Amino acid sequence: MGRTRVHLALGALLALAGAALVSSSAPAAQAWPGELPALAASRQVKEPKIEFDPIPFGHDRKRQMAAYSKRHYGERTWRLTDPKAIVLHYTATDTYPPVFNTFASNAPNLGESPGVCAQFVVDKDGTIHQLTRLYVRCRHTVGLNHVALGIEMVQGATGTRHGAEQAILGRRGQARSAVRLVAWLKQRYGIDMKNVIGHAMANDSPLFKDREGWRNDHVDWRSTDVRQFRKRVAKLIRASRG
Ligand SMILES: [Zn+2]
Repeated sequence: MGRTRVHLALGALLALAGAALVSSSAPAAQAWPGELPALAASRQVKEPKIEFDPIPFGHDRKRQMAAYSKRHYGERTWRLTDPKAIVLHYTATDTYPPVFNTFASNAPNLGESPGVCAQFVVDKDGTIHQLTRLYVRCRHTVGLNHVALGIEMVQGATGTRHGAEQAILGRRGQARSAVRLVAWLKQRYGIDMKNVIGHAMANDSPLFKDREGWRNDHVDWRSTDVRQFRKRVAKLIRASRG
């Protein structure tokens, strides 16, 4: 068992480390097994601190999500098995509690159930709330809920173009938490940077699909602001690689 573990860890390490370590001729069993986890970990963005704050997502809501998925994506499932995108949002509220209450309420949206939600909400102080398990689909972005994790950031509407996004980017704790969360999820699921998008970009995503002809009319996180966000994600990933 111990030996198997060493081999698995090394396999993971080689996959991460690329050419430099692949060219090493050291046999697996002699490759400083004690250092493997630390080295592997140092090449990953560290998991941010996450507060699990679950909304009710029992049998009924799962059944509703599966039926929604069948109508809009053609497959009856509530599971998010292979996320390929991360969609950034802001809440248009000044605080977190009304967001939690809305997502927990399971009130129909656009005449359909289940209610809206996002897997994560990042508060202004940088607290990351996780509202559902990662393998649960949430309705946060028309056309992408079958492939995308949703991240809400607490921020009121400002009435100006880019105002809300720039407020978030300028808020040190919140921006840092959101960037770390996205970097960690991006690495964990192997999500391409081009698929880290804003809600306002969703209709143009190559992953977009809605069999009922629905489109998003939301304007949160346009591409200019998302480009700034992506730069910070890329920088954090580079820094983690040392
Ligand atoms: Zn949104």
